[in-house]
Amino acid sequence: MQLIDTHAHLASSRFVEDLHQVVEAANDEGVHHIISISCDLEDCDANQQLAKEHPCVSATAGIHPSYVHEFDERTGYDDLQRHLEVGSFVAIGEIGLDYFHPPADDSPLEDWKRLQKRVFRKQLEIADALSYPVVVHQRSSFEDTLQILREFPGVKAVLHCFSEGPEAAQQALDLGCYLSFTGNSTFKSAEQIRQSIGICPQDRVMVETDSPFLAPVPFRGKRNSPALVTKVAEQIAQCWGIEVSSVAAATTENAKRFFRGLPVD
Ligand SMILES: [Zn+2]
Repeated sequence: MQLIDTHAHLASSRFVEDLHQVVEAANDEGVHHIISISCDLEDCDANQQLAKEHPCVSATAGIHPSYVHEFDERTGYDDLQRHLEVGSFVAIGEIGLDYFHPPADDSPLEDWKRLQKRVFRKQLEIADALSYPVVVHQRSSFEDTLQILREFPGVKAVLHCFSEGPEAAQQALDLGCYLSFTGNSTFKSAEQIRQSIGICPQDRVMVETDSPFLAPVPFRGKRNSPALVTKVAEQIAQCWGIEVSSVAAATTENAKRFFRGLPVD
């Protein structure tokens, strides 16, 4: 069985001590590729370096909505574009809107939302111009996120850590989005996420861990790691009533189709 963890933060300080073992443990479980996601420009450099050191790791480049206050728009977009032009990134991400957390810079909520939307749109423009797919973070912002994605019909998007119910899932699928599920789909209270999995066609789903966050049952609360993406695949297999090996095959195909130049056979 071969799985791709399409969303992990390997540049996180929580992996500094034992990253080699973490990657090896994932490989031992059949997780043959890991996409390490960036949240700011510093992350882009760190993830690019990790991808160089580990052939089974690929990197994305992008500014997370919760970090927009630290992003210098005067120079940042050029910087990001330069990264994308000279590096070997497989997507722009993670980008999007997060209205769940309060404004990180204590600005009024409306200003904070406006800034997030502007940075999101600008990165979608770059994705459109340079033909990159985008990894989208949305939390308590589903309507606005979808509305902005509608402005960019040429950009392929995956809604990462999809946690909405089946109605929202259908809207996103109708727009052409891929949906990616994490360990929170295994939580007892996550019935609506499992219903969303249930309505997804097999050619639109990807699996991820969002490591070091969101460890699946029975590891909830502990540090998550890419090896545990197997638990997400098992959950999806249960929802679809098929073998986990079939989920692995489908989600791996989808990731190969979605990401740009993924070095996977
Ligand atoms: Zn993430």
